[in-house]
Amino acid sequence: MCACYRKAAHMLIQLRNYALLPLSLSQAKSTNRMHSRATSIKAEMTSSEQNPKSESDIRVFVRRKRSRKPQVITETIVKVEPQDQKLTSLPDIEEFAFKKPEINLPQRKSKPIMNNNDKAKVKVKPPSSWVKVLEGIREMRSLEDAPVDSMGCEKAGNSLPPKERRFAVLISSLLSSQTKDNVTHGAIQRLLDNNLLKPEMIDNADESTIKDLIYPVGFYTRKAANMKKIAKISLLNYDGDIPSTLEGLLSLPGIGPKMAHLVMNVAWNNVQGICVDTHVHRICNRLGWVPQTKTPEDTREALQMWLPKEEWVPINPLLVGFGQTICTPLRPSCSLCSVNGLCPSAFQEATPKKVSRVKTKRSES
Ligand code: SF4
Repeated sequence: MCACYRKAAHMLIQLRNYALLPLSLSQAKSTNRMHSRATSIKAEMTSSEQNPKSESDIRVFVRRKRSRKPQVITETIVKVEPQDQKLTSLPDIEEFAFKKPEINLPQRKSKPIMNNNDKAKVKVKPPSSWVKVLEGIREMRSLEDAPVDSMGCEKAGNSLPPKERRFAVLISSLLSSQTKDNVTHGAIQRLLDNNLLKPEMIDNADESTIKDLIYPVGFYTRKAANMKKIAKISLLNYDGDIPSTLEGLLSLPGIGPKMAHLVMNVAWNNVQGICVDTHVHRICNRLGWVPQTKTPEDTREALQMWLPKEEWVPINPLLVGFGQTICTPLRPSCSLCSVNGLCPSAFQEATPKKVSRVKTKRSES
């Protein structure tokens, strides 16, 4: 038995050397493979002991094992903090809130919002010698009548009951824009003669009829349509009367600030502001009473800054009549004006003499 064991060990060593030969050549086999070969050879040897054969009959079966990729184990170190310490160290959400960088920028002053009464309270130094100029214009106006004195909107429906008169003043103001006083007055007279100066009558009348009666006032087609709308609003919302507030009047179709202030003054005897039309706007700029305003509304605001309130109503017919007679839009009669010594625009708008082309050609030849 001891001899058999030695023989088997010798064979095992030989076979092992044989098995190691490819290893030494290729240097690619692993020790695991060798171990498996040895195990299989040992098994063969055991079977050969049971069935003795010659050494040359011994077969070696080599099973290839799949090479396994080496596993890379990475270590992640996690720091574990005590729970109570972790809770207390959580950042507050407020720390993430966006904060503007503190820069010392100059504070912007916001423009205060002022209504008409506030604007009127703002004290502005009145123009020098305005009282003398006003007296001079009054004197000139007393010497000569102007169309506004007999045919202005204030005169519309003088003989009518208060409610109807207010409506007549409103319609007269509507028709007066872009229209001369005598044309407006004629249209109002025709409406009155045809019993069409009442809201219920205008509401029932044909628009074409109204249009024919008010012709040739400026924009008579649009004004006829607005008359129908105003009559309807008056009947539905004001029991046939007109609005008693500036806002209510301004909400009516075709009624602007100039008309609204005039109606408030004349119809309701409620002075909310100066009625500034093109005459008042032009003359105030010529006299230097306002800082070269571009619109009548700007003129109204600038004038209200310094003109005493008792002058707010009479200033309109005074300057309108002056503009119709002396300080006209084109070629003002500065030579006839008694305040030309106080007016910064005196003689500045004199029309240059027209030189005809025929004369120019003759002189050239
Ligand atoms: S001087 Fe001429 S521009 Fe001046 S207020 Fe008299 S008319 Fe008008």
